[in-house]
Amino acid sequence: MEIIRRKTLKEKPAMDNSLGFGHYFTDYMFTMKYTAEKGWHDAKVEPNEPKPFDLATSIFHYAQGIFEGMKAFLQPDGSIAVFRPEENWARMNRSATRMCIPNFPEDVVEEGLETLLKLEKDWIPTAPGTALYIRPTIVATRVMLGVHASTEYLFFIILSPVGSYYAHGLEPTKLIVEDYYTRATLGGTGEAKCLGNYAASMKAGEVAEEKGFDQVLWLDANEKKYVEEVGSMNMFFVIDGEVITPALVGSILPGITRKSSIQVLRDKGYKVTERRISIDEVIEAEKNGKLNEAFGTGTAAVISPVGLIRYKNVDYTINGGKMGEITGMLYDTITGIQYGRLPDPYGWRKIIK
Ligand SMILES: *Cc1c(COP(=O)(O)O)cnc(C)c1O
Repeated sequence: MEIIRRKTLKEKPAMDNSLGFGHYFTDYMFTMKYTAEKGWHDAKVEPNEPKPFDLATSIFHYAQGIFEGMKAFLQPDGSIAVFRPEENWARMNRSATRMCIPNFPEDVVEEGLETLLKLEKDWIPTAPGTALYIRPTIVATRVMLGVHASTEYLFFIILSPVGSYYAHGLEPTKLIVEDYYTRATLGGTGEAKCLGNYAASMKAGEVAEEKGFDQVLWLDANEKKYVEEVGSMNMFFVIDGEVITPALVGSILPGITRKSSIQVLRDKGYKVTERRISIDEVIEAEKNGKLNEAFGTGTAAVISPVGLIRYKNVDYTINGGKMGEITGMLYDTITGIQYGRLPDPYGWRKIIK
């Protein structure tokens, strides 16, 4: 893989939890182009510097773009581990298909990512809870205003050293159930990690933050009845000892942390059920003292305990507002595998030497 070097390197920020999320970017990025004539080509690692774009570039107008989120962790032996990258490449190509973006060669971007990570190893923070966040993205780059799939694309991977996703770390989050706005509809793009989904969710997110909540808990668009997800995390509830997570009905993003969590829980002997679960069932369980725990799963926040849910102006506290036992076990297990503190029975760590 071609590497174009920069003359001077950036000054690094303090590599601890004060990094926050997504504020700093490393020296290099991976890029690859697509044109209808040449297909995907010109894969290389180059300096991460601003790029000029014509303002008629289609991504600015119609949001034909997709992204992924992954993390790299420095292992105790000094090697680099990425958590299940092949899952992200496969999902990204599924998102691409949904958005009329040509599928890309997964082996080429994996090689690009590995080349990039080896070059940027010093940017992987090691303080507890920190990691190097990986953001692969594809944007439509044709300069044209017609509403059609673009004939040109840019694939890029940028890297950002990050601390905890939520400012308050592993403290349980507060969610507000959104019963007016919707995130995704059946037949829409909720299953794809496409840019427009996030633009569409910001209004509800802003209202939630003004009211002092961390995130929105989305319901299904048709009936406003069934729990879907949080918009950056998939949801799990522990009711009477059984772990329940909304089934992937088509409007929910199929999370890799979700999939990994289900496997860990089942292997530890927990009953895990994927099915539709209504918000009324969750509230009823809380009222009857049967809602033991609730948590969200996602690459950015990993496993995030939920301490409070507001629905129709009533606040429901979960597990006394504290992180539950299963949530804690799952957090320890998944981060243990990611950071190399625990064995990796599933082969989830992709080691880059
Ligand atoms: C990325 C994302 C998730 C979490 O998926 P992971 O693969 O676990 O990171 C959940 N919901 C939405 C809408 C997302 O974009």
